[in-house]
Amino acid sequence: MDAASAARLLLASLTEAPAAGVWSAPGRANLIGEHTDYNDGFVLPFAIPHRTAAAVATRPDGRIRVASTFADAPVEVALEELDRLFPSAVPRVPEWAAYPLGVAWALRALAHAPAALPGLDIAIASDVPVGAGLSSSAAIESAVGVALDDVWELGLDAVRIAGAGRRAENEAVGAPTGIMDQMASMLGEPDAAVFLDCRSLAARTVPLRVREAGLDVLVIDTQVRHAHATGGYGERRAACERGAAELGVPALRDVAVDDLDRAAGLLDETTFRRVRHVVTENQRVLDTVAALEAEGPRAIGGLLIASHASMRDDFEISVPELDLAVDTALAHGAIGARMTGGGFGGAAIALVDHEQADAVGAAVRASFAAAGFRAPRLFTAPPSAGPRRDA
Ligand code: ADP
Ligand code: MG
Repeated sequence: MDAASAARLLLASLTEAPAAGVWSAPGRANLIGEHTDYNDGFVLPFAIPHRTAAAVATRPDGRIRVASTFADAPVEVALEELDRLFPSAVPRVPEWAAYPLGVAWALRALAHAPAALPGLDIAIASDVPVGAGLSSSAAIESAVGVALDDVWELGLDAVRIAGAGRRAENEAVGAPTGIMDQMASMLGEPDAAVFLDCRSLAARTVPLRVREAGLDVLVIDTQVRHAHATGGYGERRAACERGAAELGVPALRDVAVDDLDRAAGLLDETTFRRVRHVVTENQRVLDTVAALEAEGPRAIGGLLIASHASMRDDFEISVPELDLAVDTALAHGAIGARMTGGGFGGAAIALVDHEQADAVGAAVRASFAAAGFRAPRLFTAPPSAGPRRDA
């Protein structure tokens, strides 16, 4: 069953009220540009076919209830209670519920007459792998965001809805993530990547033409799970902020590759390597966009490979499973491969010839088995569409 049907069924088990509609939004994979978003830099993600759906019914009592196939029990509060729950340094609702409730809180703050908004029952279902670096979090935020924008008649554009999703993630959940995931989910288009300047939020799509080039994007979910809110993510962010401060720039976006020699003399060794990853990664995003536009996807393999090496050696956010996935894919003919997402687990992507996709997948499975790693989950992810209304 697809996510939209599952969400509709869950809603029917919650309430007899008719659904106002069902909306869905995709997860994303990042083609290149990792940990550049919160450094005001560039990213190049694309929406994947996997989606999260939100089925919504209005209710007359001014309360909001969220349910998910992912969770045991629904969570219900009064709409006005949201302003007392968030922002929150300590969790006052189960973590999963802070995503949809946080979006409702952030969107309610943008309404002209918040007190007049109807209450809601929201049922959520998803086929986006959770915690795999494919942004199930942005998928739930965007799905709930577009649903509430419609039901509450807010008339917001995609960038405002993405901003509400980010606010939910930062201030309601407490995960210090950037804007990339929400923008990718909101702006994704079939066979295209979203080229985003995270400083100006200027975004445009870049044609990927992977099918035309006879290629597949293979996603290798290692099944190693990360924990953004508590893991090394915050420590990496802090290192970037420290680096920018010591170099006297507003953000690492303002450091050019040619400035790195000077930076090496000013920063301690670890901070320098963190900075070098971000600075060179920004340049690789620009180079990837140029290569895609001039030559097509077969020209970007070396940039993907260099990106992975930078994350493994300089930013130190890879894990043995991700390195093995990348190395095995490359050894069996992938044009390029890299870990994708925040790191410490999650997924890698490999750009492979369509005819070789199965063989590369089999080789990755075999190498994981030989290493004693948990079996990875593999699928091809044609770059896909952004949010839509399903019913
Ligand atoms: P990722 O975005 O890489 O999948 P995150 O840790 O950022 O990983 O977000 C995963 C969290 O998002 C889950 O632990 C859960 O709290 C929430 N979440 C994602 N999808 C759903 C869903 N369908 N229903 C409820 N909560 C969800
Ligand atoms: Mg996430």
